[in-house]
Amino acid sequence: MSTIPNRLALLTAAILLVAFPALAQAPAPSGPVRPLSRDEFRAQVYRQLDTLAGRATGRVIYAGVTIISPDAPNPRHNMAIIVAGDRIEAVTPMAALDAKAREAAEVYDATGLYAIPGLIDSHVHNATTPNRPNAEQHLRREIYSGVTAVRDMAGDVRALADLSRSALINDIPSPDIYYAALMAGPSFFTDPRTMTASLGLTPGQMPGMRAITDDTSIPLAVAEARGTGATGIKIYANLPGPLIKAIIAEAKRQGMPVWSHAQVFPGSPLDPLGSTSVSHICMIADWVLNPDKQSYSHADAPDYSKLTTANPNVQRYIAALRQSGSVLDATLSVYPPRKDLTATNGDAVRCPRELAGELTAAAHEAGVPVTAGTDSTSEGTDPWPQLDEEIESLVRFAHFTPYEAIVAATRNSAIALGKQDQMGSIEPGKFANIVLLKYDPLTDIGNLRSVVVTIKRGHRFRRADYSHRPIVDPELGQ
Ligand SMILES: [Zn+2]
Repeated sequence: MSTIPNRLALLTAAILLVAFPALAQAPAPSGPVRPLSRDEFRAQVYRQLDTLAGRATGRVIYAGVTIISPDAPNPRHNMAIIVAGDRIEAVTPMAALDAKAREAAEVYDATGLYAIPGLIDSHVHNATTPNRPNAEQHLRREIYSGVTAVRDMAGDVRALADLSRSALINDIPSPDIYYAALMAGPSFFTDPRTMTASLGLTPGQMPGMRAITDDTSIPLAVAEARGTGATGIKIYANLPGPLIKAIIAEAKRQGMPVWSHAQVFPGSPLDPLGSTSVSHICMIADWVLNPDKQSYSHADAPDYSKLTTANPNVQRYIAALRQSGSVLDATLSVYPPRKDLTATNGDAVRCPRELAGELTAAAHEAGVPVTAGTDSTSEGTDPWPQLDEEIESLVRFAHFTPYEAIVAATRNSAIALGKQDQMGSIEPGKFANIVLLKYDPLTDIGNLRSVVVTIKRGHRFRRADYSHRPIVDPELGQ
């Protein structure tokens, strides 16, 4: 039982430790392992707090870099990025850096390197069937490859809350994790994925995985979703248009982003416009070619060969999307290139990446901000994450310039998170989320795979420290 005098004692200790940080230096461990004393334990806790606050990283000047960032259309050469703790303090030409500024900081010689903002994957799943060791392997590959944040688009929120805490305090090497609470019509909650993500509870009746009907109190459902620690609400599968709109309006009122599938049935793709983001570009094919389809399924796919960007309804959708302010989470990675589609396993009816690319290109040219989201993972043997291929696909299949593809994976993905004031560019005041590359990604987007170091909220993850071990993925049948 905690008593007031005890609390006072703890508070006094806390004040002393903040005022006299030397008190928090525990002796270096030597000899056989023994239990920590109370003071040592307390010191360890305070060091962790320092780490969390970014104070442990001090002040660092990344000197001599070429900066490529969405806030400035041209690369800036021979620059210094000054990082204080977890934030970017200043960005300045090296010539303007005075001796005094250097004195109080560690100088990291980044001469000849290229600095881009930390990459953000706007569509991952790390806990559909929660498997912590497996998730950690994927997250580790991502952080050492320049990914500083991911948007988890629904899984078991209990597992995601735990993972995101570990990432936040650097307990595990991982991008920061922002995740969704899911809302859908009751029919979706017989899907096996909802069962594995709700184990022990009833799918559709938990705050992170909620069935919505006309009888649901939407304000309460949104408030409960927020209580899970989720950053946003994902709208999925089946819901009528008026309920989609009601969720978006209430989430906006409570300051929570809404992330919707591009079409939720029997609503039309026009109903989720006004949400923060819409996912999966090829979903509009159903509405254009198969307008009578009433519910979500992969079974009755439309004939994608009949779809072109010239179709008046495609044009109408893109114009409405542009008008709405929603960003497009195109997820090119989920659509196989035409050459990889085979008739034998039913792939003949899948949307080819070439078409997904053309639709994404049309949206991009109309001025719709496009994010970089994968909704899939690269092979376990691949030392680089799927996000690299998604960014390359934006260039190859949707005609983005390398710079535009980097903007997609940084600023636009940050907008999808609702975190654009904290990340997505290399600007003072934002988190020190920076990737240093050996080669220029503007001359070849493949140079994103020349990571020297990933910096996440001031903490450095050197690529040289990463030894790739093939990721075994039990979710994929191992
Ligand atoms: Zn997904």
